Amino acid sequence: MKEQKVYEPVIGLEVHVQLNTNSKMFCNCAIAPFDSSPNTYVCNICMGYPGTLPLINNKAIEMVAKSGLALNGNINQKTRFDRKNYHYPDLMKGYQISQFKYPIVVGGEVEINTNNKKKHIKLNRIHLEEDTAKLTHANSKSFIDINRSGTPLMEVVSEPEIGNADEARKYLQELHSIFTEIGVTKGNLEQGHFRCDANISLKPIGSKTLGEKVEIKNMNSFRSVYRAINYEIERQTNELNSNKVIVQETRGWNESKGITISQRSKESAHDYRYFPDPDLPNIYIDEELLSDLKKSIPELKKDRVEYLLSNYELNEQVIQILSSDINLYDYFKNIELPKPRNSNITDQDLANWITEEIIKILDSNKINTDKISSIFKPNYLIELIELTNSKKINRNGSRNVLSSMVESRKSPKDLIDELGLTKIADSGQLNELCIQAVNNNPDAVSDFNSGKETAVKFLIGQVMKLSKGKADPKDAELNILKILNNEK
Ligand SMILES: [Zn+2]
Repeated sequence: MKEQKVYEPVIGLEVHVQLNTNSKMFCNCAIAPFDSSPNTYVCNICMGYPGTLPLINNKAIEMVAKSGLALNGNINQKTRFDRKNYHYPDLMKGYQISQFKYPIVVGGEVEINTNNKKKHIKLNRIHLEEDTAKLTHANSKSFIDINRSGTPLMEVVSEPEIGNADEARKYLQELHSIFTEIGVTKGNLEQGHFRCDANISLKPIGSKTLGEKVEIKNMNSFRSVYRAINYEIERQTNELNSNKVIVQETRGWNESKGITISQRSKESAHDYRYFPDPDLPNIYIDEELLSDLKKSIPELKKDRVEYLLSNYELNEQVIQILSSDINLYDYFKNIELPKPRNSNITDQDLANWITEEIIKILDSNKINTDKISSIFKPNYLIELIELTNSKKINRNGSRNVLSSMVESRKSPKDLIDELGLTKIADSGQLNELCIQAVNNNPDAVSDFNSGKETAVKFLIGQVMKLSKGKADPKDAELNILKILNNEK
């Protein structure tokens, strides 16, 4: 058999992000809701009638600049729009208003974690353009809905620095997280707010020359991108290994079949005959606006992850949960653990209580996390954890106390008294309950004697019942085993 060569994938992504503006890019039409009736959010401008003139939506320009700042890109303070000419039935004017020579953002980067290492994917540019109308083909007929025409789209173009499908997915997830956090998009994937084209080429490992690139168009889920890239790498590898030539082309992703399909040969930039749009003026972004935009960028999830990593000892799972919710994050960060740390509470311990017990109670009561510190006063939580760790109360009891805090503003000590949850500390009393449980359940005892270990669990449950939850299950288990083994 002929030796099968392995190649190195080179991947670049173009992401089209629907901006979260109220109105369209070049007219006063409102952005059409996803389920709106066809052709109800249209006017002469977005329908492309001859003689109409575009207006500029400044909010969209600000959102692109803000996105660039959040990704450490450079802002072109003088920018403009160009016409991209091509013929397609969904393109109302026969050209699309886009940006060619002076995009709003140049450069920038996205940080991802790959194989436990940080990797920075550089950006080429971020520019602003308008969306097209939508075609639907059914029963040998074609229908056009112009509602989407003129919706502002931000296009984020990466450098070809992505090495595989996993990196591509992480890059997209990170971009999506940042853009939704800074509020420039609603980021609804099902509604196509975040669509991705992937450019993929293969080269011999170590080679500097890039192979012919194939573009896969219009994928709108992270999973599709991941699958399509893997499929395409395999397809191109097989072609090259059977001495076939890869042609530069555009392919479509078929989600149900899990394959890419050739659509057309790829155009080059000069095919589009870009030129400055004579209907639109140059745009200037001044220092004052830039500084306002910078100030409007909130603390991002990636900053919170960084802060938790460098200041606490926490596992990856709780870092993800705490950094994803600003209320949980602030609550955790603002709790002053007794210092110096003579307390038996670790960072991880505290984080577990918040991300497991407290979240569960908030969820089941349908309470938003912004209420967390008024319901679970930080000093009360610490008090409760200390009581639990020093075995004054068992874990089930502490859950009851936490649940009671939703209604009551009393301290854990008061609630423990009120609920009668003080753990049975008297070993004689516990022993009596265990004997009672064993005597009441002869079937469980014979099960145990015939080797069924689960019988012990059943008996522990009986002791918990008899003690109204005040027994320590571990102590109860030891006692029960002692009794059963003596009886044998
Ligand atoms: Zn319009």
